[in-house]
Amino acid sequence: MNILFASSEAVPFSKTGGLADVSGILPKEISRNENITLIIPYYKNETSPKIEAKKIDSFDVIINKIKYKTEIYKKRIDKKFNVLLVSQDLFFARKFVYGDSSTAYPDNFYRFLFFQKAIINFIMKNKIIYDIIHINDWQTSLIPMLSKYSKNSKIFKNSIFILSIHNLAFQGVFEKYHFKELEIPDKLFSPDYIEYYNKINFLKAGIIFSDSITTVSPTYAKEILRPEYGYGLNGLLKKYSFKLTGVLNGVDYKTWDPENDPLIYKKYSIKTLANKKINKIEFYEEFNLPFKIDSILAIAITRLSKQKGIELLVHSFNKLRRENINILILGKGDSSYESVLAKISKRSKKIKFLNLFDEQIAHKMQAAADILLMPSIYEPCGLTQMYSLKYGTVPIVRSTGGLADTIEDHMPRTQSGTGFKFRRIDPNEFALTIKKALKIFQNKNEWKALQINGMSKNFSWTSSANNYLTLYKKLLKKEKINERID
Ligand code: ADP
Repeated sequence: MNILFASSEAVPFSKTGGLADVSGILPKEISRNENITLIIPYYKNETSPKIEAKKIDSFDVIINKIKYKTEIYKKRIDKKFNVLLVSQDLFFARKFVYGDSSTAYPDNFYRFLFFQKAIINFIMKNKIIYDIIHINDWQTSLIPMLSKYSKNSKIFKNSIFILSIHNLAFQGVFEKYHFKELEIPDKLFSPDYIEYYNKINFLKAGIIFSDSITTVSPTYAKEILRPEYGYGLNGLLKKYSFKLTGVLNGVDYKTWDPENDPLIYKKYSIKTLANKKINKIEFYEEFNLPFKIDSILAIAITRLSKQKGIELLVHSFNKLRRENINILILGKGDSSYESVLAKISKRSKKIKFLNLFDEQIAHKMQAAADILLMPSIYEPCGLTQMYSLKYGTVPIVRSTGGLADTIEDHMPRTQSGTGFKFRRIDPNEFALTIKKALKIFQNKNEWKALQINGMSKNFSWTSSANNYLTLYKKLLKKEKINERID
């Protein structure tokens, strides 16, 4: 099997969130069995890692009659796994991947149309036959449609297109006047195809023209068929639910395991769980935090967006004033949340805010903390809570999407469960759940059992990758859906 995996970000090259974690590790896991190529934009800025890659091709991509010189670089990871980087400095040599945390770049339409056209041109020029073309989110969603209407669509005749939706809220919606720049038949500007309330919607094209759609947890796959979670596409997804499945993401335990994590102060495992406390002591010292070592430390490591339940978090603070709890938030995102949290952090001795995106601190916090707070309004999968389980940091989550699928509620009688779940979007219910956890924290044995239950869980990518492989194989046996669409 020959697979192409297209994504707009992937670790270790670029990262704004979970999509990068998935795109970095899933192809690697799949390459244990099959040939796979990951294709991503070649981002360049002061903080991007130095990449040793070889230039293997160059050609022009034409948009609006303008020629953009395109270079393709190749980095061989191992025998069955290569990374291709699409280089065009006008579009990708910038400070941010999509724009700063509150505003998208105004030319994102061109940046990601360019990326997708470059992928298609590269395949056509080099006559590469991919059995599977796995696309991810709106930034690569046009590929099935554009390739179908391209000059040399024959080359894609036997390719199966799979779209993975990592977050339905981001759809790539652009003004109508861009339609002609796509150079596809006029009839496609209709609500049955790419039109979306008189605009164009990249993700919609992906949903319609792909042979299969996956999303990153089974619960989210069901939730997005409902208006509360469907972001305007629930009707369309319902229509195509016959090709929709949920495949849970996994964890890269090479990067996220306290037993082998070079970024934390003191390594530990279930057997040496007492060492976790050393991480707390050292962390407080390094960051000069005024917290007491024996008080519980609750953390949040998150994009600061409405999705992540930041309002629930902020409104719960008042209700926890009398409790023996310290809260530390690591986050970047909406400026309104950043300023509210900065103000609270300045006033309070028990709540602190680090307004950063910093992987190393994220690791140190996971090792130092007792509790993770993740009150997401919706959560397609969520990786942070799975990392927490491995670090013996007990998650308190809202029961939605991947959080519902990966966290089991604590059952005092049977000492089972891995965390605490609440359902309603209500700061009272969230605070009550935190208080319940605080009570259990007092009973050292019960708490330890909870930590060990979580640390023993295995959400490795191997099983997720096997699920994708099974899906690929099943699809290759079936007739292409894409072929049947006029
Ligand atoms: P999402 O993809 O919706 O942002 P996930 O939980 O799936 O949420 O993945 C988030 C990833 O980004 C995790 O690897 C997490 O550690 C990381 N992350 C989020 N915010 C920060 C931050 N402020 N600093 C460092 N890492 C962060």
